[in-house]
Amino acid sequence: MRGRRKFLINSLLSTGLVLPASVRSMAAGSQPKERHKPLILSTWNHGMPANDKAWEVLDAEGSILDAVEQGVKVTELDLTNLSVGLQGLPDREGITTLDASIMKGDGSCGSVAFVRQVKHPISLARMVMENTPHVMLAGEGARQFAIANGFPMEEEVLSPGAEKGYKDWKKHSEYKPVINIENHDTIGMIGLDAKGNMAGSCTTSGLAFKMHGRVGDSPIIGAGLFVDNEVGAATATGLGESIIRICGSFLIVELMRQGRTPQEACEEAVKRLIAKNKGIEGIQAGFLALNKDGEYGAFAVHPGFNFAMHYRNGRALVDSGSNF
Ligand code: ASP
Repeated sequence: MRGRRKFLINSLLSTGLVLPASVRSMAAGSQPKERHKPLILSTWNHGMPANDKAWEVLDAEGSILDAVEQGVKVTELDLTNLSVGLQGLPDREGITTLDASIMKGDGSCGSVAFVRQVKHPISLARMVMENTPHVMLAGEGARQFAIANGFPMEEEVLSPGAEKGYKDWKKHSEYKPVINIENHDTIGMIGLDAKGNMAGSCTTSGLAFKMHGRVGDSPIIGAGLFVDNEVGAATATGLGESIIRICGSFLIVELMRQGRTPQEACEEAVKRLIAKNKGIEGIQAGFLALNKDGEYGAFAVHPGFNFAMHYRNGRALVDSGSNF
């Protein structure tokens, strides 16, 4: 069935028909044969509307950097999403804190970590990149920088979904940094334009019910996101601690530099992550990558990780392969 579905999709593609969202799956070890330029990839289902926006920006002659910023801003405002933006699940003190990073293929990058009340942390990360001599601002300093630059801020009130989640969690108040399908969903977006320029963005409210002050992989350049026009780009989702330990996104780009395909590089990174993280059975982490020729790949520790993919002739939601 899977083979037949893939055949049908490929046949449609070869006719040049514009596809509505299609669904595909990528088995472990499978090598996507296609290459696409431009190409926009994002983690999880919420990547579909985010990619739609990014594509619209590219279509209107926006830069790939504008595309990846505008794309994930859609997710930052999505009230149904409890793991990105201010509506996300809070930390164990009941406070929602956000992490975000942005990077261009020429090495420019910016990020914010542990920031409160900022509606669009991805745009704040971009401002750190473009308007400061620094790469990263955190906590109160990042918040003050946002206020000083007129960023939209919000009252510190939990969204209805976050409040319910927090109340439910408080019944047991169990603090275990275990990540599963219900409590993670960072959006990482990586893109390649028609001229070969790349950029990426990553934004999250992080691990639900984390310790106050905890920072995940998403704002750490090289962990949650890495982009190099000479090679490719990668982004990550899942338990940030496990991703930071192996510098996951940087590792994938370097493996591609040494000749691996994006798929091989993602699989190798998952292998490394499993080797360096005890108790991996209970946790999820996944990677998404593309190279400068427009080949892509994705892989996760456990089944369930999918990504959204937009290219000239269509858009698809693709299930990644997984180790277990
Ligand atoms: N990577 C994020 C973090 O650890 C969590 C996620 O992907 O949802 O903060």
